Amino acid sequence: MNFRQVKYFSFPGELLMRMLQMMVMPLIVSSLVTGMAALDSKASGKMGLRAVVYYTTTTILAVMTGIIMVLIIHPGGGGKDKMHREGKIEKVHPADAFMDLVRNMFPPNLVAACFQQFKTVYGTRKVPVDPVENGTVSPAVVFSNVTRAVQLLQESTDKMLPLPGSVNSVNALGLVVFSMSFGLVIGAMKEEGRALGEFFNCLNEAILRLVAVVSWYAPLGILFLIAGKIVEMEDMSVVGGQLGMYTVTVIIGLFVHALVVLPSLYFCVTRKNPFAFIGGLVQALVTALGTSSSSATLPITFRCLEDKIGLDKRVTRFVLPVGATINMDGTALYEALAAIFIAQINNLDLNFGQILTISITATAASIGAAGIPQAGLVTMVIVLSSVGLPTDDISLIIAVDWFLDRLRTTTNVLGDSLGAGIVQHLSRLELQEMDNAAEEAGMRKQYQLMSADDVKARTVGSETTM
Ligand code: ASP
Repeated sequence: MNFRQVKYFSFPGELLMRMLQMMVMPLIVSSLVTGMAALDSKASGKMGLRAVVYYTTTTILAVMTGIIMVLIIHPGGGGKDKMHREGKIEKVHPADAFMDLVRNMFPPNLVAACFQQFKTVYGTRKVPVDPVENGTVSPAVVFSNVTRAVQLLQESTDKMLPLPGSVNSVNALGLVVFSMSFGLVIGAMKEEGRALGEFFNCLNEAILRLVAVVSWYAPLGILFLIAGKIVEMEDMSVVGGQLGMYTVTVIIGLFVHALVVLPSLYFCVTRKNPFAFIGGLVQALVTALGTSSSSATLPITFRCLEDKIGLDKRVTRFVLPVGATINMDGTALYEALAAIFIAQINNLDLNFGQILTISITATAASIGAAGIPQAGLVTMVIVLSSVGLPTDDISLIIAVDWFLDRLRTTTNVLGDSLGAGIVQHLSRLELQEMDNAAEEAGMRKQYQLMSADDVKARTVGSETTM
């Protein structure tokens, strides 16, 4: 098939991707605002702490699993001379990447945050040039301009300067931070904030109804997304030798984490069968496999967890959007494993300190990675440059990334969903307390209404007897 035919063939899949992406932004905002507004600050604090402990623990476990696998299997023996290279890698300074992450938490313009993220770009500063007055060029002006031009040239070769730039992609982190704070404030405003709370609640319900409609189309869309990718696939003969071994190592690592580590953790905490839980998630997992985007899968994950598994909306609304944005176990495992693989093909022996650095930066890079296709490949530059590994060698693993990306996205979605189950179990007492308090308040209100009616009836009765 030629390129045009492949595009026609993938069209139904592309449509599904667009429909899902269309719902992500309103879903993240409405669910977080209502999720936070529904919880009192004590309950949301405790639930938030549990979620953060879960995210950190599972990400560290994922990184450790990746490191153990790559050290045991050692797929990178034999050098890199015969390996196939593909694509070009953009360089990023780890400090700039970290600062961009923090900058993106506070978008200066909320509307722009719906389609744009801040990103440091590298270039040279514009050096002001002395003006030429009345068309006469004095030797002093020429001399000063030439000096500055030389200075500029030196700057551009010596070091590229970090300058403000942007990329076209939803700033999910910024929206998450804003929506959480906004929701908390609305919750604290009690009666005064009720109208806004109800607006977002209604928006959330309406979007979830739309998701229900789209999920009818999802199986067909996913079929075409995957089939389209298979048709598009280039000659896979490059996937031999070290690259083949590397692919197998990543697959084993992800399987161990997704099917052994995470389910065991779920079982230890909740004492419930994790595979029954995973059974209810199949549609979300298949969507993650088809779309390679945990944020595009978010609408389907919501549906599976709320409608099929029956988790409490107060938990899913709060935990899922945050999880889809920052909790990426599959990506963390992949980044640590890939960095050590690149060290192996360069015949470099990493010491304990370097492996520790890789673990920490892989965790940070997974938090910084957006939930979009192949985002992990971009943030991997940070991991490699933190221990001085050649970032150009990422081009050696690009050939298999489209496939491994699907598997790590599926692991990411599974991690977020099991996390919601675990947080709900741990927060059951607070949720129960909130239900009891709401019931009591409802009864008190009903009683007040009844007694007001009673007083009115008695007043009217006494008036008529008079
Ligand atoms: N595609 C992944 C996700 O959306 C991120 C990654 O590239 O690892 O979760």
